[in-house]
Amino acid sequence: MPLTYDVIVVGSGPAGSSAAWRLARAGLSVAVLEKDALPRYKTCGGGIIGRGLQVLPVDMVHVIEQACCTARLNVFPSELSFTTYRASPIVSMTMRAQFDYALLSAAQVAGAAVHQCCAVKDVSSQRDSVTVMTHRGAMTAKFIVAADGALSTVARRIGMTDGRVLIPALEYEVTIPPERLERFSGVARFDFGILPHGYAWAFPKRQHLSIGVLSMIQRGGDLKQSIMRYADLLGCRDATRIEQHGFVIPVRPRNGPYIDKRVLLVGDAAGFADPVTGEGISFALRSGQLAAESLVAGNLEEEPVRQTYSHLLAGSILPELRAGRLLARFLYDFPRLRSWVFARHGQRLCEAVTDVMAGTRTYCDLTFTPKSLFKLLTLHWRRKEGNRIA
Ligand SMILES: Cc1cc2nc3c(=O)[nH]c(=O)nc-3n(C[C@H](O)[C@H](O)[C@H](O)COP(=O)(O)OP(=O)(O)OC[C@H]3O[C@@H](n4cnc5c(N)ncnc54)[C@H](O)[C@@H]3O)c2cc1C
Repeated sequence: MPLTYDVIVVGSGPAGSSAAWRLARAGLSVAVLEKDALPRYKTCGGGIIGRGLQVLPVDMVHVIEQACCTARLNVFPSELSFTTYRASPIVSMTMRAQFDYALLSAAQVAGAAVHQCCAVKDVSSQRDSVTVMTHRGAMTAKFIVAADGALSTVARRIGMTDGRVLIPALEYEVTIPPERLERFSGVARFDFGILPHGYAWAFPKRQHLSIGVLSMIQRGGDLKQSIMRYADLLGCRDATRIEQHGFVIPVRPRNGPYIDKRVLLVGDAAGFADPVTGEGISFALRSGQLAAESLVAGNLEEEPVRQTYSHLLAGSILPELRAGRLLARFLYDFPRLRSWVFARHGQRLCEAVTDVMAGTRTYCDLTFTPKSLFKLLTLHWRRKEGNRIA
């Protein structure tokens, strides 16, 4: 007999564990299936922005290695630099192995069953249930939450439409002498101009520095060269150890629907990473919770669950991603316009994005609409034209 649950959650990242926690707390029988042995390393900067901290279901302070109330953005080669401060952390630094394991443990304490080293290989949907095939045999549930990340096997096997844009990113864990590490303490650092259509970051951890680069275009050029140049710029030549990792980030969501055949997509599987920063943990947590709320509110009935999940996403994550995409276009597709705006309004722009990261404003609040982008472009072109004639 296959194991049977109300809900099976595939993947134990932030999306999966937050869904499992909420479902277990509501008294449903829920299992989390994870392909790796836990705790596992996850390629990630491990920066949890304030917007993510706000939706954490449990206190995770014990896995935060540094809370950064300062963010700094440098723009090369212009030598512009902007610093923002907030009373509460803008980015809290963690290692994902510990963070994800702590969240999963909370779900387990709430009542979720956890099957590790249990990769889902196939999924089939019946009238009233869904069956997953794993290395340990078949398991059945009324619904599946697909939280299996950017390469989601579940979404592929069930035939969900895609349309996401997956961009490449590198993460290097760099061990440097303590006195040098100290220089990075308490600051989340972001650098533009290190590579053409992306940015670089340096996140201080307790005993090392996490540095990374991402390119917002799919064939992102030579990221390895960019990150080595960045390591030099940061003065990390004397690193005693460098661990190199790379993966993809979905910066454009699927075309939808996000629920089909009793399968709900959450987190990277749905394509919910922030199009401006590539940050994905906050909407992974949020979408996991929204999926769970829909299952509970819809009483595990297909149509009410579908309607509730679609409605909740349409009123929260999806408009934010749309507004963020416009800002991302401006930041990455028009480097000259970006430099011009940074030179004149850099501090204001950084304060606004810091507010979004801190979770006190949204991209929608910034009224970054096609109309405002067009106005900015027109102003820029007029000035350029004026300069040319003069
Ligand atoms: C280089 C890099 C740096 C990043 N830095 C940051 C950052 O600083 N802050 C931030 O917020 N975001 C960052 N992100 C994005 C962030 O890592 C993701 O958006 C986030 O992890 C998505 O969470 P998730 O729960 O949807 O998926 P994941 O965290 O990817 O979790 C998916 C889980 O599913 C498991 N799984 C996969 N397939 C199967 C299967 N077939 N069966 C069973 N289990 C399966 C995986 O092992 C994994 O544990 C970064 C990404 C990259 C690539």
